Amino acid sequence: MRKPRIVVLGAGYGGLMTVTRLQKQFSKDQAEIVLINKNDYHYETTWLHEASAGTLHHDKVRYDIKDVIDGHKVNFMQATVEDIKTDAKKVITDNGEVEYDYLVIALGAVSETFGIKGLHEHAFMIANINSARQLREHLEYQFATYKNEEDKKDERLTIVVGGAGFTGIEFLGELGNRIPELCKEYDVDFQKVRIVCVEAAPMILPGFDPELVKYARAKLEKKGVEFRIGTPLKEATENSVIISKGEDEVEEIQAGTIVWAAGVRGNPVIEKAEIENMRARVKVGKDLRAPGHDNIFVIGDCSLMINEEIDRPYPPTAQIAMQQGETCARNITALIKGNEALEQFKPDIKGTVCSLGEDDAIGLVYGKKLMGTKASFMKKVVDNRALYMVGGAGLVMKKGKFKFF
Ligand code: FAD
Ligand code: NAD
Repeated sequence: MRKPRIVVLGAGYGGLMTVTRLQKQFSKDQAEIVLINKNDYHYETTWLHEASAGTLHHDKVRYDIKDVIDGHKVNFMQATVEDIKTDAKKVITDNGEVEYDYLVIALGAVSETFGIKGLHEHAFMIANINSARQLREHLEYQFATYKNEEDKKDERLTIVVGGAGFTGIEFLGELGNRIPELCKEYDVDFQKVRIVCVEAAPMILPGFDPELVKYARAKLEKKGVEFRIGTPLKEATENSVIISKGEDEVEEIQAGTIVWAAGVRGNPVIEKAEIENMRARVKVGKDLRAPGHDNIFVIGDCSLMINEEIDRPYPPTAQIAMQQGETCARNITALIKGNEALEQFKPDIKGTVCSLGEDDAIGLVYGKKLMGTKASFMKKVVDNRALYMVGGAGLVMKKGKFKFF
């Protein structure tokens, strides 16, 4: 009998958790496991704000996929997934087609621009290693160029960050530490630099604990961040953003750097494949399968699950993606071994920690509020734990964060 082929798309948090669990369940003769990813490395999406600001080198943020998979049991294919033909049970990539018996879609998210004019052309996004490297280089270039300009344009040193959700705030925290370094390196007066955060909602980190939000705002303002709250960004141009200040009032802010960090949507491959979706996220059943597709699992940022306690979707997080990866591997094992009912996934939310630079953070962990050094310590524990879950102690030693105080 032909052995079943399990194809996993994406080597992020969800995909790698699935594969590293599946490889423990099957011998080479029992199942063929194929992992497809755009790059031959995994990157920690949750550390991209650091690589983007330049506070952590991008090589610290990534590791080789071959270091965490069992090459005897898993065929790794470096390719970009372009489409999925569900009727033919085929994945179309830029490197050929792959048939599957079981498919796991774990392709992560892309930035959501809500159709706002000019963002794709003029804004940087915090999305992957390439975008992080480009943003870090651009920031540095602005400082170097400013010094070389005869007629010095201070707007060159203005950075606008759109969105004060967790990504925007974590990036601002890193900028707060990076900008003084850049000023020193390029002999630029810190007073000439402007960091403006534009947020549509009436508060930063909407919905998060007010006391922690107050702490974060005060700490970031102390580092020079100006908040423009309740002012949605309406348009980006080559060197400015236009924000709305009321029904008919708008303001244009000149800026040399525009960063868009205002939410995500699922991977566009989902929409192309015409799998039922909402903003490219598939509302999966409790067993993590796509509706109408008994052999397709969708996990991580491509999936959507409702938190029944508040009747709203769970936010797309690495915490959930990793837990889904474990359940997904168990459910595929059950289907192939045909001996168990499928597990019903329920996220076990341990908390949220939001960094404010390397040395500061806020967090709610098991319902307990944390701020400052304690929260920053916890953030590093969380980061190291994610490495441990995928690659064990060896990976933590190689890539972990150990500067706790
Ligand atoms: P990812 O981990 O993003 O992996 C997707 C993989 O698919 C990548 O390897 C990518 O290269 C690959 N891929 C994409 N498209 C293709 C294609 N077409 N073909 C082949 N391969 C492809 N969550 C938390 O829980 N805690 C945090 O502290 C936290 N911090 C964050 C900080 C930042 C700056 C950001 C941006 C997000 C943060 N998140 C955090 C959210 C978290 O990163 C995501 O929810 C998580 O990465 C989702 O995991 P995933 O497996 O779905 O996708
Ligand atoms: P988000 O949806 O959490 O926040 C986006 C923010 O952008 C919101 O505050 C929203 O009001 C604002 N916004 C939307 N449109 C705007 C506009 N036109 N102008 C100005 N502001 C606008 O998205 P995110 O911060 O990108 O995070 C994505 C996901 O990743 C979330 O689920 C988040 O929880 C997760 N994440 C978690 C952490 C952490 O746990 N430390 C860090 C980063 C991201």
